[in-house]
Amino acid sequence: MCCAQAETTQRLFFALWPGAAVRSAMDHLAHRQVRKLAKRTPAANLHITLAFPGQVGAGVRDCLEQAADRLSGRSFTLQLDQVGHWPRPRIIWAGPTHTPPELWSLVEQLRAALEGCGITPETRPFQAHVTLARKASRRATGKKIESIDWPVDDFCLAESITDSVGPVYRVLRTWALEGQ
Ligand code: ATP
Ligand code: MG
Repeated sequence: MCCAQAETTQRLFFALWPGAAVRSAMDHLAHRQVRKLAKRTPAANLHITLAFPGQVGAGVRDCLEQAADRLSGRSFTLQLDQVGHWPRPRIIWAGPTHTPPELWSLVEQLRAALEGCGITPETRPFQAHVTLARKASRRATGKKIESIDWPVDDFCLAESITDSVGPVYRVLRTWALEGQ
């Protein structure tokens, strides 16, 4: 007789996943804004995290997917028009000066979904950002840039897998947002 098998878990997060053109514009921006010593995010990894369930089992994943099925979200355009540096996580980010109400609403609903599935709620306010680089030392923050206009018409559930070269992300499911 032996023990019950440990439950298989996955490290999950809800995200906005850019298409090829926006991804390429973000990658060009990162090449221009990030100095050599910082660790630039690989183009394939660029995204905005909306909500972070973290390590969960299949039951919680089902619960999260069902909650996302019920959610009501509208499409919007996100204008990435500034870059900044946060000294504590030591990241360089790109983000919008103005976060559209549709994005606030989406994040609120996803945070409620996580809570409904038994995940401890996030207390920090949402700050929409794409991490362009890590291990970045101090530099000017809130610098205006020529806007990257990102038409957002879906969101996704992604899995993060830590590889020997760093994190690799895999989109598991995508949900469409309703048109304007
Ligand atoms: P690594 O942790 O290996 O340096 P990473 O942070 O990119 O890489 P994950 O930690 O798996 O990879 O995170 C996946 C996404 O979720 C990233 O966008 C990350 O910023 C975000 N994230 C990670 N931890 C949290 C957290 N505790 N709260 C909110 N978002 C988080
Ligand atoms: Mg991390």
